[in-house]
Amino acid sequence: MYIIMISSELAPVAKVGGLADVVFGLSRELEVRGNAVEIILPKYDCMRYDQIHEFHEVYDNLWVPFYDTWVHCTVLFSYVHNRKCFFIDPHNDKVFFNRGVYYGHHDDDERFAFFCRAALEFMHKSGKQPDIIHCHDWQTALVPVLLFDMYAKLGMTHPRVCYTLHNVKHQGITGEHALREVGLYPPDYMRPDRLLDDHNPFAVNLMKGGITYSNFVTTVSPQYAWDIRYTDQNYGLGGVIDQNQHKLGGILNGIDYEVWNPEIDRYIPFKYGISNLDDKYKNKEALRQRLMLSQDLKPIICYVGRLDYQKGVHLIKSALFYALEMGWQFVLLGSGAEPQINNEFWALKHQLNDNPDCHLEIGYNEELAHLIYAGSDIMIIPSMFEPCGLTQMIAMKYGTVPVVRKTGGLVNTVFDVDYSDKPEKERNGYVFEGADYVAVEWVLYRAVVHFYTYPERFRELMEAGMRYDFSWNHPGTHYLNVYEHIREK
Ligand code: ADP
Repeated sequence: MYIIMISSELAPVAKVGGLADVVFGLSRELEVRGNAVEIILPKYDCMRYDQIHEFHEVYDNLWVPFYDTWVHCTVLFSYVHNRKCFFIDPHNDKVFFNRGVYYGHHDDDERFAFFCRAALEFMHKSGKQPDIIHCHDWQTALVPVLLFDMYAKLGMTHPRVCYTLHNVKHQGITGEHALREVGLYPPDYMRPDRLLDDHNPFAVNLMKGGITYSNFVTTVSPQYAWDIRYTDQNYGLGGVIDQNQHKLGGILNGIDYEVWNPEIDRYIPFKYGISNLDDKYKNKEALRQRLMLSQDLKPIICYVGRLDYQKGVHLIKSALFYALEMGWQFVLLGSGAEPQINNEFWALKHQLNDNPDCHLEIGYNEELAHLIYAGSDIMIIPSMFEPCGLTQMIAMKYGTVPVVRKTGGLVNTVFDVDYSDKPEKERNGYVFEGADYVAVEWVLYRAVVHFYTYPERFRELMEAGMRYDFSWNHPGTHYLNVYEHIREK
């Protein structure tokens, strides 16, 4: 099969969160199985250019309609760790993708709407007719709308579209200008059965368009598919999700074991697996040295991830204070898009600067993340909602026991040592339900009691997590089934 991914992120060159890992890992799995996969991305100025080799221009004459004018674009090609990637580089005074960050500008809607049109224009001009176009999140939601209503009339009748919802909180709610910009006539689309937002009669909801127009919609775990249908986690998209149930499914993300694997990880000083698990503790020592923590017989509890309301920042703070109060160690690596949350964590960092049991690293650091996964004992993931969550799966591969809140993909991957109905050998972590500090303290207490008092049981949990197969193997099969299903239509 010939598949084109259109995405705003790709690991490791343009990564903000799990979306980047998923696009890379899934593309790799599909290719390993003999499919041809290409990825179309914006060319950002802030990408990791050290990970891009032999970058060269393949198309210099792409003119993309933009309102009633045209924007000249160049398309560059490169392999990113053997993935075939095309990068779209618009040359206009708005410098859409040369802003030093991926997201967070007032005109993100305009930037990514443009990217959708540019990606299709490029495919059209270069004669690409894949079997499947796979797009992701609100940033690429206009692709199926433009494909079926505009480019099909120009001959692009072959591709079918699979659309994946990685996070329904961010829907791309915007104004009619986003439609006019890409050449769609607003009155045709500001309709309840198309892109009109269900709660604001003047707003366009891009994600709603993606769901409505795609041939199949997936979300990134079975539990999140349930959560967005039956709880307020759909952030107002419940009606559309309900109407499109016949073409919606939840497929648990995988993780890429070429990247996340302590046996071959080039970012950790001591490689290890189940057979030499004690070498994990050499990484613990290395982590402490690097972060100037005291060397002691204490558990290291860690958090790696975005600092965002979604991730339960108030509970992360509860965990941090409780750990220090109990005399344990806490390591945090996080970055946030919201200035208020960032400022809070910077203030905390200054406050705890001299504490030998604590280190807060605020910012994005791929290399350090690997060492934290390898060197910690417990990872806390107290998300308020979690579409899938990759960090708990990565942690398990590194023998770091996850402590998670019972929501979304965390429910599908972490099974409580005491309360799960899974057989004992398959239980792999700790799960809690509340959303206050009492719940966090109790669950951490349970985990650390095992760590100190029942180390054999704790070790069994570590090994159980390491034995799970969270690779792309199963999700790869599920996605291919979806692709086959929509191709036949
Ligand atoms: P989300 O997609 O909601 O951000 P996921 O758990 O699905 O969360 O994916 C997070 C990915 O991003 C993981 O690979 C994690 O290691 C990585 N990550 C998140 N924050 C950071 C950071 N500050 N530095 C390095 N890696 C990070």
